[in-house]
Amino acid sequence: MEYHPGGEDELMRAAGSDGTDLFDQVHRWVNYESMLKECLVGRMAVKPTVSKDYQEEKKTLNGLLPKGPVTEIVAKEGPSSPSYDWFQTDSLVTIVIYTKQKDITLDSVIIDHQDDCFRAEIIIEDYSYLMHLRLSHKTEEDSSVRVVENVGKIEIVLEKKENTSWKFLGHPLENHNSFTPKKDAGMYYRKCQLISKEDVTHNTKLFCLKLPPGSHLHIPIGQHVYFQQTIGGTEVVKPYTPMSNSLLSDFKEPTLHSNKFLFFLIKIYPSGLFTPELDHLEIGDSVSVSSPKGNFKVSQLQGLEDLFLLAAGTGFTPMVRILIYTLTSIPSLRKAKLMFFSKTENDIIWRSQLEELSYKDKRFEVEFVLSAPTSEWNGKQGYISPALLSEFLKRTLDKSKVLICICGPTPFTEQGIRMLHHLNFSKDEIHSFTG
Ligand code: FAD
Ligand code: NAD
Repeated sequence: MEYHPGGEDELMRAAGSDGTDLFDQVHRWVNYESMLKECLVGRMAVKPTVSKDYQEEKKTLNGLLPKGPVTEIVAKEGPSSPSYDWFQTDSLVTIVIYTKQKDITLDSVIIDHQDDCFRAEIIIEDYSYLMHLRLSHKTEEDSSVRVVENVGKIEIVLEKKENTSWKFLGHPLENHNSFTPKKDAGMYYRKCQLISKEDVTHNTKLFCLKLPPGSHLHIPIGQHVYFQQTIGGTEVVKPYTPMSNSLLSDFKEPTLHSNKFLFFLIKIYPSGLFTPELDHLEIGDSVSVSSPKGNFKVSQLQGLEDLFLLAAGTGFTPMVRILIYTLTSIPSLRKAKLMFFSKTENDIIWRSQLEELSYKDKRFEVEFVLSAPTSEWNGKQGYISPALLSEFLKRTLDKSKVLICICGPTPFTEQGIRMLHHLNFSKDEIHSFTG
């Protein structure tokens, strides 16, 4: 038990019974040829039936006592640090990280592997666990990642370049095996390649970036990343929100696009500092992209009945994935409404896609509001106002579970939040996207 990286809890899950299923689920890589041959003592002939009394007796024999108050106090202070282990076959090296957390998903795992430098960051609640090594031998940069969600185990499989036996995994690099609050963990950037750049409106473009082969990075819904570029000899960093390349193709098939591609809709400000530089990038050029940041949690959408999205200009970007996810994955949803504030008709992003989506899915409604319309516009106009909001924010049921997301220029968001409070929406019912 002391040796096993998953510890006592993990082992006791199979105590006194046939552990084959559990073993296959979490230990497929510990195979007969490389390790287990040595441990074979005979074949299990009969599956024993274990009486309740016997289990009780066994617990006492192992000295296991019910968890006392001390353990609970420790658990309340934050998650315990993960640990890791590794194993090899002739052609593969498997790194196993034991987080002992139940809510670990692929979104929690960030891998960057280039040449022999291997970096794996695991996000656990507000903490970050880092493995950072110079691997002892060469491997392919691409790795496969698997998460066993119910036990919080992460398996990263690397393919050896040569079939030699490794004596050790690698040399520790900066902050290896550290577990720190996320806010104290430094920002890591990987170089992504520009694959395509398409006009969306007269001043916004859809950029497609490709992650390097050794990177595994899922950006959680509602979160953003930072781009870094050197402009006039100075490093400049600005946040951008990944979205999908279309509202409709992703709506039909959320897994269509490989996780290697990231899509960003970016407004180019001719007199801005950063976006003209982005606009000048050629296909094949690279941009440094950080790991995800942000405080939106997808759990805010669970059990939701009414979703209201208030977006102004490029403040539309975080709404895209939230909308797609809610329509496809939240069965309790009755209504999703977007009020989209733009200056003119030419500034409306993805107008025809939004209209088509509202036609195809009757739960979705969109309303465009223009602040500088031409005389031909017969829709809503003006800035965000209590009158517009109180008419728009109608619950489908008196006490329906509601979430209002708001994003846009700072004055828009600040005024909007104040108006929402006046309309008696609680803090929990409002999520604002700010810097
Ligand atoms: P800036 O140099 O910041 O200038 C922007 C505009 O303001 C220009 O017109 C400029 O002339 C004017 N300006 C600058 N300084 C002043 C001043 N002192 N007085 C008056 N005017 C001034 N943008 C997107 O397009 N897509 C996204 O997905 C996206 N996601 C974001 C996510 C977050 C969390 C945040 C906070 C912002 C996001 N943004 C997004 C905005 C983005 O980060 C940049 O602010 C934007 O791209 C402008 O950058 P810039 O350096 O080109 O312009
Ligand atoms: P814009 O200048 O084209 O304006 C769009 C609409 O915003 C206007 O039509 C108007 O209705 C409203 N608006 C603008 N100024 C206002 C004011 N002073 N008071 C009330 N309403 C006002 O918008 P843009 O250039 O696309 O800017 C989008 C903004 O959204 C940027 O500031 C960007 O930083 C922000 N943004 C934030 C996030 C985030 O996650 N925090 C993501 C994307 C964009």
